[in-house]
Amino acid sequence: REAAAVAAWTGPGATADGRAVDVLANVQDGAGARRAAATGAQGVGLFRTELCFLDADSEPSVAEQARIYGEVFAAFSDRPSGAGTGSKVVLRTLDAGSDKPLKFATAPDEENPALGVRGLRIAWGQPGILDRQLDAVALAAEQTGTSPWVMAPMVATAAEARDFAARVRARGLTAGVMIEVPAAALHAERILREVDFLSIGTNDLAQYTLAADRLSADLAHLNDPWQPALLQLVALTAAAGVAAGKPVGVCGEAAADPLLGAVLAGMGITSLSCAASAVSAVGARLAQVELAACQEAARAAVEADDPAAARAAAREVLLGI
Ligand code: PEP
Ligand code: MG
Repeated sequence: REAAAVAAWTGPGATADGRAVDVLANVQDGAGARRAAATGAQGVGLFRTELCFLDADSEPSVAEQARIYGEVFAAFSDRPSGAGTGSKVVLRTLDAGSDKPLKFATAPDEENPALGVRGLRIAWGQPGILDRQLDAVALAAEQTGTSPWVMAPMVATAAEARDFAARVRARGLTAGVMIEVPAAALHAERILREVDFLSIGTNDLAQYTLAADRLSADLAHLNDPWQPALLQLVALTAAAGVAAGKPVGVCGEAAADPLLGAVLAGMGITSLSCAASAVSAVGARLAQVELAACQEAARAAVEADDPAAARAAAREVLLGI
């Protein structure tokens, strides 16, 4: 029965009692976006643009970048807007550095690259790279007749969010930031005064909250997306979104776990973005649970002492097992 429900799920994302939660896909190129469009995904919640240029020796021209971005925008150009994000594609500006160095953007030989000049921080010293990327996004939007949303990775302060939003809005685009640094989660309310939406990257938010390298197999238990301290920061960020009346999505691995997706919906998260292969299972689970149960499960998970207890509490509330 479970498998049949997953196979049959075609969206749009909503709880059994009708609370809309957009179910979106994470993609890295046009081919991936077209595959995602064949699922029930209403759009793309995370387009990781840095992955387009891992092999590039020099910065691609604005025209070349626009061609690549336009392929992703076009894959969803015929979809109705979702209730949660109101958008079809959320593009993330280059998250270069750390585990994803780019030859034309990243400083070599940093001692601690995960804590170094990565993501939006590259724009401090080289704003031209960000500005040309935003020019390319605006050009691709115009060429495809779409209205993508644009967000920055690795934002730590409201001042950074303000600067980024000004650059994005100057090009007529909708601006948001990722919440993946604990300081940004703690200041979600003031960051939301600067931008139109937030998207929580639970992979990095876990890594930085638990101080545990996300690439270390020995520390995988600390990077568990059910860590109650991580869930507490996610809940704080979601509550800020509810208070501001602005969308707050989750685009890290947490969103690919159907049970956790229901818990996140209970916190007030408005969209879940995950690998295309997980979209149907996440959507099908949401369709089986009521919002009030999701809210109760969210409270229980945050109050749990460890990941296993959080998972067990959510399972009991939502699935009765
Ligand atoms: C995250 O950090 O959760 C995220 C979605 O971004 P990435 O995995 O690309 O760092
Ligand atoms: Mg990240």
